Amino acid sequence: MLQTRGGTAWQPNYLDVINQDVCIGCARCFKVCPRAVLQPAGMTEDGEQVDFDDDEAFRKIMTVEDAADCIGCGACAKVCSTTAMAFVAA
Ligand code: SF4
Ligand code: SF4
Repeated sequence: MLQTRGGTAWQPNYLDVINQDVCIGCARCFKVCPRAVLQPAGMTEDGEQVDFDDDEAFRKIMTVEDAADCIGCGACAKVCSTTAMAFVAA
């Protein structure tokens, strides 16, 4: 188990997946993430993932671009207003 600087036990929780059926694409998580884990994207009416600024994008979503870069800080979980994000313990 890791510890904080003050010696309190610290359990990192790594971002695993984002449920695109629940995500509202608000990008709060993207703004607070200190790593290169997240990537905004778009989704068409047919449910196909496209670039964020694609003309076919019907709504915005957030994707996990590089899960291996996550440090498990939990900042994204604190700002997400939905239950879109799932985590795995370190
Ligand atoms: S846990 Fe931290 S590093 Fe990982 S995706 Fe969330 S904000 Fe980024
Ligand atoms: S904060 Fe939550 S709802 Fe907003 S983009 Fe991130 S995962 Fe989606």
